[in-house]
Formats: sequence, C-alpha cells, structure tokens
Amino acid sequence: MAGSYSAEASLCYLFRLHKLTPIQPRANRLIPRLLIIALGLVASLWGAASTGQTLVLVSIDGFRWDYFDWPQAKNVRSIAAQGSRVTKLRTVYPSKTFPGHLSIATGLHPTQHGVIDNYFCRSDRSDCYSMGKGRKDPSWLAGIPLWTLVEQQGGRASTFFWPESDAPFANRLPTDYRAFDGRVPHRERVQQVVDWLALPAEQRPELVTLYFSIVDSASHTYGPAAPATLSAIIEVDRQIAVLWQAIESINSQQGADINLMLVSDHGMSEVNPDLFIDTNTLPRPKGFKRVNGSTRVTYYQRDPDVDIDSLESELDSMSDGRWKRLSSLDLSERHFENHPGVGDIIIETAPPRVFRRGGGQDVNLRGMHGYPATVEDMAAFLVAVGPSFQEGSVIPEAHQLDVYPVAATLLDLEVPDNIVSDGGPLRAILRAR
Ligand SMILES: [Zn+2]
Repeated sequence: MAGSYSAEASLCYLFRLHKLTPIQPRANRLIPRLLIIALGLVASLWGAASTGQTLVLVSIDGFRWDYFDWPQAKNVRSIAAQGSRVTKLRTVYPSKTFPGHLSIATGLHPTQHGVIDNYFCRSDRSDCYSMGKGRKDPSWLAGIPLWTLVEQQGGRASTFFWPESDAPFANRLPTDYRAFDGRVPHRERVQQVVDWLALPAEQRPELVTLYFSIVDSASHTYGPAAPATLSAIIEVDRQIAVLWQAIESINSQQGADINLMLVSDHGMSEVNPDLFIDTNTLPRPKGFKRVNGSTRVTYYQRDPDVDIDSLESELDSMSDGRWKRLSSLDLSERHFENHPGVGDIIIETAPPRVFRRGGGQDVNLRGMHGYPATVEDMAAFLVAVGPSFQEGSVIPEAHQLDVYPVAATLLDLEVPDNIVSDGGPLRAILRAR
C-alpha cells in the first residue's frame, strides 16, 4: 500500500467498505432453550476455570496516556478513582493498531503473533497482509488471544470489535462476535455489551471486548490536540460512563462480579506536513519490494542477486538526518527480528516527520503513531475498576504485554508457555483473593 495515510488513518474507512454484518448467529440459538440452560449448568460445573468473574476489556484506539488528565476525559477519570490506573502503558513495536491490539490480546510481541504492522509483506510469501485479513486467511495469525483462551477453558467470550477478533485462532471463534464495521453507532455497541453482561450468571460471558476508533481517526486527521479530537474524547468518555453505570447496576442488582479495563493501543504525535518525506524520492531498485509504513519504509529482497549493501549506502547518503537505518541492535532492542515480515532494510523517521507518497501536499494528516516506545507520545493508558481490582492504586508504568497474564489470573485461566510477561508491575492492580 503506497499511500501511507490510508494505511494509517483510515482504519474506519477501510472497514466502511464492508457491508454491515449482523451479529453472528450463535449455534445454540437453534437448540431448545432448556437444553441451553442444561448445557450452561454442565459447563459451569465442568469449567474449573469459572470464578464467576467477568472482564470487560475496552480499547480506545489512539487514546494517548496524557488524555486521561484532560478535561474531556472527566468520566474516565472519576471511574479510575474507584480503581487502578497505569499512567504510561508502554507499547510494543511498532506502535500501530493491529500489532498493538494483538499484543494486548495474545501477550506476545508482534513478531510472535505474526501481525507485525497494519500492512506488511513477508519474504517467504508473495501476498501481503492488510488490516483484518486474518478473517479470510488465519494463516497470518499466531498465538491464543484471551477470547480463545476463555473458550478453550470452558468459558464464553463475546467480542464487539477488537482487531482480528472476528478471525479464527486455533480454529475457534468467540461465541459472540461481529465482523468489524466502523459505522455501527457507539451506543449500539455499548447496549449489546450491556445486554451480554445482563445475562443470567450461567450464561454471562467471562470476557467481553469493545472497541472505539474515533479518537484515533480524529487525531490523525486534525492532530492530537485539535477540537475534533477533543470532541471524540468527550464522546468516548460519555459511552464509558454509560457502560460503567450499567456494570455497577448489574453488579449490585444481580450480584455479579463484572470488572472493567480500559486500554489504548498507542498514543499520537503531532506531525508537520511541511517536513513529510515524499516516498517518490526514495530509491526503488529492481529486485526489491518497497513497503511504506508511514513511520518507516521497509525493503524486502525479492531477487537473491540484488545488492543490499549498495542500497543501504544510497539510503544512508540521502538521509540528511531525516531518517535512520535500523541496525540489528535496534531491531533486537525492539524485539523486531526473526520474522519474515521484518524485511531486509528498514529506514525509520521521527516525529514530526512521516513518509508519504507525494510528501505533505494537500494532505489532512496532522497526527501519527508507529514510532518506537522511546517516543513518549506513543505511550498508551490503562484503567482497571471492579471487584477484582485494587482501589486507588496508580502504577507509573507497565507494558501492553502485562495485560494478558493479569487478565488470565483474574479469570483463573492457564496461560500458554510462550507469553512474554508474567504481569510485571501490572499485577499490583489485582486485589488479593
Ligand atoms: Zn491510527
């Protein structure tokens, strides 16, 4: 995808092309109701995993760590005051939507779960990945996301959007899920989640996910502090308030133990179109495939006889401080190695620059992410509130990869051996049982 902007900013736009997909029919809707209840009882007796706890995992795409303190996020802040908060949630590399969401969901680095960017190619296959491709071709995906882990261990997972949650992992889909469609109104998403949570205890899902992309979209187009971004924060903040109010009421009226965790996948940096690097000015020698990832450009060697060294020298001599060619040490520090998607040469820029075809002319692009976690603006946020979470705890820093083991502990699930983190500092948000 040559247009960096489309690869980055228009997650919604791409998915708008999909038809509105009704909720997937649950197989057991066809089974008589009594049987469902009987199965539910058996499942809850067998499901040693069931602690009666539910986790609602909500992602606010592009909600930068410091938005939490902005006036527009007042509901999020007052909810957080009843629970725990991570000030800066550090991101995997690259700090992009699909890699980040899948790292939160699987506990694995992008090079382990396979989705190393929103758009990328691989040296071992001729086709390339684009956002949401796992649904039709799950061979791009690896790892066991939380919703699959729940289902494998006898529970029920219900997803109302999360990147690739409509794709089969280990040949399974969540009991309830929707194919992504950015046009579905926020209140409809929240209402469906509330309906799932209000189910009788034996049918209530252990895990529910919910996803909002509006803050990311607005901040890409207008910038992280633009009025449109502030309005987007207000809108999501209001939806979160509605959701939390419903959770509190179900918890008190039905004696449920529903917990809420809010996360984001990355932050956002202000960018300056006057400084954009026109990808048309970069070399495109025969025998290489060149892929623009907005914050970096990757060259994949397609012909074994091409001269990598001379392309590297050419890129270095053209840079003039505008980009840096990533060394194997850089890649290793970012856990971005040993995967056929990594490519053979990567050049990376820093804010306020991005790579874009045509440079910065006539472009509505004022915010970007994808830079390494050392760029402070890339940090995400996390809020956790509910019966299983500590009250009033503020953790200065944790990592996206800490979410998976902590969620698994809350739900009493056994985790796969290959996950990266044991929960690290994030374990402190859990209340002792
Ligand atoms: Zn984005």
